[in-house]
Amino acid sequence: MALIVQKYGGSSVADAGRIKNVARRIAAARDEGNQVVVVVSAMGDTTDELIDLAYQVTDRPDVREFDILLSTGELVSSTLLAMALKEMGYQAISLSGAQAGIRTDSAHSRARILKIEVRRVVKELEKGNIVIVAGFQGVTDEMDVTTLGRGGSDTTAVALAASLGVEGCQIYTDVEGVYTADPRLVPEARPLAEIGYDEMLELAIYGTKVMHPRAVELGELYGIPILVASSFSQEPGTLIHGGASMEVRNKVRGVAYDLDVAKITVVGVSDRPGIASSIFQPLAEAGISIDTIVQNAGLDNVTDLTFTVAKSDLAEAMRVVEPIAGLIEARECVSDASLGKVSIVGTGMQNTPGYAAKMFQVLGEQGINIQLITTSEIRITCIIDEAKVKKAVRALHRAFELEVKD
Ligand code: ASP
Ligand code: MG
Repeated sequence: MALIVQKYGGSSVADAGRIKNVARRIAAARDEGNQVVVVVSAMGDTTDELIDLAYQVTDRPDVREFDILLSTGELVSSTLLAMALKEMGYQAISLSGAQAGIRTDSAHSRARILKIEVRRVVKELEKGNIVIVAGFQGVTDEMDVTTLGRGGSDTTAVALAASLGVEGCQIYTDVEGVYTADPRLVPEARPLAEIGYDEMLELAIYGTKVMHPRAVELGELYGIPILVASSFSQEPGTLIHGGASMEVRNKVRGVAYDLDVAKITVVGVSDRPGIASSIFQPLAEAGISIDTIVQNAGLDNVTDLTFTVAKSDLAEAMRVVEPIAGLIEARECVSDASLGKVSIVGTGMQNTPGYAAKMFQVLGEQGINIQLITTSEIRITCIIDEAKVKKAVRALHRAFELEVKD
């Protein structure tokens, strides 16, 4: 009897009808003779609504109470799903993250899984139960409930698959897999049959919403192939795995975009040791994560330092940086909150010249000005005007012929 781990996202369990639909899919997997562990997200927009409620009560929700509050969303979906399965005549039990043995550190709202004590899950499977685990949550050594960060149920699923020694993990969502680009933007975008962990990780970090980056990282670390497919259809979906073919016809696998980019430039900074750290250390202490950093080669020992942050962090970042700019006698500190980024990703691009040149040419032809460029071995990202991002995604998808099958 094979053991499988499935995860269903919030839109797949958004109402009672959808919960029953998911129950039927789980029952089908059980009927095929499998032992089944299921991880669920909260129903629809529940998590957003709970966050909203907390902020109606206070501007600064207590972190411990906040995590317990958010964890209730997944308790609702997991218990209802277990009831739906029982109603269909199947043996099922729901477990909270704590009951499923998911131990985390105590970093509330962004906790990391330290280990999973799978005894209870295994015991329930042995009793013949389908085990439904509430995603996105765990518990500290002090038995305080934690949550894993938005989108964290993917991480719960892959971590459980790794701890149970399962050979694969199935993530069911509302789209038919990982697309060459966001299909809402590019109608001719198509789901990929397979993609490598590295490629998926870059796409996820640079804006493709379908999988949580931490879950992809875990999958790679433990060698767990992850299938991403729709819970609404029988389409085959996309397999994320380590052996994805490098010699595919199309070396660009996907185009990702992100509209949440703001830029700060500290102008006229003196070019001497310690300056960068005097700016970035306080930003790190303020918990602001920095994305792209560019420092140009200074003339006359004066340079400009530019970096990007999420739009929601811009005001706080400016509050931190402006006084420092004064202290280090920079000329000024300017910001721009209307940027976005567009990226092309593909393992095959490494060691193959010409991809960057072609990307820049395509953007140039569209009259799109590139403000900053960053690259990894398998990714090229351009930071451009937010209003031009969608046009850029469409043009790049066309230019790299991503609509054509491998
Ligand atoms: N319900 C949580 C969220 O909306 C976790 C998840 O969906 O994976 O972020
Ligand atoms: Mg969700």
